[in-house]
Amino acid sequence: MTRIIFLGPPGAGKGTQAKTLAQHWGVPHISTGDILREAIKEQTPLGIKAKSYVDTGQLVPSQLVQDMVSERLQKADTSSGWILDGFPRTVEQAIFLDNLLQEMNQKGAMVINLDVPDDVVVGRLLSRGRKDDTEEVIRRRLEIYRSETTPLIDYYGDRKQLVVINGNQSPSEVNSNLKDLIISC
Ligand code: AMP
Repeated sequence: MTRIIFLGPPGAGKGTQAKTLAQHWGVPHISTGDILREAIKEQTPLGIKAKSYVDTGQLVPSQLVQDMVSERLQKADTSSGWILDGFPRTVEQAIFLDNLLQEMNQKGAMVINLDVPDDVVVGRLLSRGRKDDTEEVIRRRLEIYRSETTPLIDYYGDRKQLVVINGNQSPSEVNSNLKDLIISC
């Protein structure tokens, strides 16, 4: 059973690595950012509610994201595992996920913190050119990451679920570090 949660600032390479590993292990890559962007494009009720938050780099209210994750993790394609990218982003969401996984008898996901210095991620995001990758929005997303999401490093560290990987390497080097790590667990 492959159950992995990716932490790391925007631009750390979570999406790229999560996608490659998900293909490699044959499990779904569940990116809350991708689901929200798709909902916004399709103008679903969720998308309409989430749009102003995503566009300005703020966190979408947890209840909306939690309902979305709960529904997604209960689909049949998650039977051999999943890779979560972008969730949880707050301690509140982590507690919600712990309770959800406990109810589903799926305890103890591995949490990977992709560690990359701020100046490196800003450069990467500016060259990515996504709609929410303007300098002002990037700065806000990094601030929110620092205040809301970095407490999860201690949260999962205390629970002995955390592994830190140096994300300041080429994507293929990070990928091979991740594969070595997961094989050895
Ligand atoms: P990402 O693709 O992970 O960088 O997410 C893009 C945007 O989607 C974020 O800036 C938030 O507005 C929203 N988002 C994604 N995941 C979450 C989450 N777990 N909680 C709240 N908002 C989220």
